[in-house]
Amino acid sequence: MSISQNLQKIRSFLDPYKTGLIAVSKTYPSETILEAYNSGQTDFGENKVQELVSKYEVLPKNIRWHLIGHLQSNKIKYIAPFIHLIHSVDSFKLLKEIDKEAKKNDRIINCLLQIHIAQEETKFGFSEEELFITIQSEELKTLKNIRISGLMGMASNTDNESQIKKEFQHIQKLFNQIKSSFQSDQIKMEELSIGMSSDYKLACESGSTMVRVGNAIFGSRNYL
Ligand SMILES: *Cc1c(COP(=O)(O)O)cnc(C)c1O
Repeated sequence: MSISQNLQKIRSFLDPYKTGLIAVSKTYPSETILEAYNSGQTDFGENKVQELVSKYEVLPKNIRWHLIGHLQSNKIKYIAPFIHLIHSVDSFKLLKEIDKEAKKNDRIINCLLQIHIAQEETKFGFSEEELFITIQSEELKTLKNIRISGLMGMASNTDNESQIKKEFQHIQKLFNQIKSSFQSDQIKMEELSIGMSSDYKLACESGSTMVRVGNAIFGSRNYL
């Protein structure tokens, strides 16, 4: 199937849920992204700053770029002028650094807090405890140039659907809890970024507002 057919098929699944689609274009060249763009896709996700910036420079300026991979403090400055949403904020320190760079650019940068929901040790993210410490922090109120607009999570890499469901329901519960009790100038819970190629259907059942899908749109990536 072509990229445009894949997009159509995924969108028709997402539409009844009103879930947005981030096309994860990491490792794919700009021509491939342009093909998806020309069939109406405007939100793209990348996991590396350098790759994201070099694609931003050559592709249409109305593309909304999402950073979905681990971000190092010293690289924030390269994306701060234009990034649409950072999904992968995994520490309070990083949030403070993003605020600084956003201020230099005289803008507010929307951020999602990445929550560790999978069983694997290796995935980045806040624990539940760290999450609640962060959102209740007094210092957060001084960060006028960031907005926490939701949560992001990655489920365990497993075929066990009930395990994946359990993890998605867990992050959905945290999302709803914060939304009902901790909204403020800095915290506006609007986006729950869960679901990838293998589990986006399950994520929709758990209230995903945006899925991050790569393979199922562009075909398998070739890792070296
Ligand atoms: C690569 C990646 C995705 C997309 O994965 P696919 O299996 O290609 O759909 C989603 N989220 C993150 C954080 C990723 O790094």
